[in-house]
Amino acid sequence: MSTTKAYAAHSAGAHLSPFGLQRREPGIHDVQIEILYCGVCHSDVHQVRNEWGNSIYPMVPGHEIVGRITRIGDQVKLFKVGDLAGVGCFVDSCRTCPSCLKGEENYCENGMISTYNGYEKDGKTPTYGGYSTQIVVDEKYTLKVSDKLPLKGVAPLLCAGITTYSPLRHVGVKKGHKVAVLGLGGLGHMAVKFAASFGAEVTMLSSSPSKKTDAEKLGAHHFALTSDANVMKSLQNQFDVILNTVSAPHDYNMYLNLLNTNGTMIVVGAPPAPAQIPAFNLIMKRRSIMGSLIGGIKETQEMLDYCAEHQIVSDVEVIDISRIDEAYERMLKGDVRYRFVIDIASLKN
Ligand code: NAP
Ligand code: ZN
Ligand code: ZN
Repeated sequence: MSTTKAYAAHSAGAHLSPFGLQRREPGIHDVQIEILYCGVCHSDVHQVRNEWGNSIYPMVPGHEIVGRITRIGDQVKLFKVGDLAGVGCFVDSCRTCPSCLKGEENYCENGMISTYNGYEKDGKTPTYGGYSTQIVVDEKYTLKVSDKLPLKGVAPLLCAGITTYSPLRHVGVKKGHKVAVLGLGGLGHMAVKFAASFGAEVTMLSSSPSKKTDAEKLGAHHFALTSDANVMKSLQNQFDVILNTVSAPHDYNMYLNLLNTNGTMIVVGAPPAPAQIPAFNLIMKRRSIMGSLIGGIKETQEMLDYCAEHQIVSDVEVIDISRIDEAYERMLKGDVRYRFVIDIASLKN
């Protein structure tokens, strides 16, 4: 066992504070990673505040992890000591169900093992995430990270990146498609980068007028303010795909109206309250609404390799761990440009 410094929430909505935990000795297939950066996802905020009703405390959040391998088990084949590595939203899965066999461990029929706010395969050892100095993970659930990209900008790819890359690939976004991204935060800014990179004509739908210039810099061809009724009316029946990243409850219908015939709204944002959707809004134009959950290990590696090839990283604001509560508050106000990333060196002092 090795003692690890971390930050944890001890009850719903509590401030995060220093916490000590034990990581297991690396098993024969495990790698031990010294964590260098960890991104701050809005899912961390939802779970620290128990907004999804499934929180386990003490909770060490963090599932956008990058670092360097410090130890490996005897049978590890894919990594060596000194390699850069990444860990995303899950650290294991059943490995035998049809989803796992297809490489879609994120949809494991027996439930993937979340990087935090879950239990290991023994059903009783809690998992703790990346707001910590090190982690031990099976090599099969560890990602290879290129040394060609700035590491702090790579961390958010492990969740915000794959969560937007996967569904855009699944629906086949390409040149000629009109794609709208709803909500310009961590997921939203990666969605704009990917959709533009895949050749689509991209419109940013945002409630924040101050984000217009940034949206264009990120690759959006158009910017529409969701509070402007005239603009929203002018965009009706326009889009093939809307990627909805909004974290707070909102009216889905306003945005379904913007889909053309056969258009699809991909829901990745996970507000705590259910949405109401009138059947006619789907029926009249054969519109679809689908959800998508992160991505499997194979596709996450494909996404990381794509990013290395195309020089795509997240736009980040690096913070010390002591500013984590402030970062959560700012995320809740939509004030993030466009991902907070914790410099884990600040946890070691
Ligand atoms: P974030 O950085 O806080 O961004 C959310 C954005 O949504 C905000 O920047 C804001 O953009 C917009 N927004 C917030 N409140 C709004 C409101 N009341 N009405 C309209 N727009 C609002 O969050 P994130 O990390 O990107 O995560 C977004 C959501 O995705 C969260 O619910 C998270 O849990 C979920 N998530 C899902 C998956 C998955 O696998 N499906 C993975 C990761 C995260 P504007 O200022 O542009 O309006
Ligand atoms: Zn996340
Ligand atoms: Zn499975």
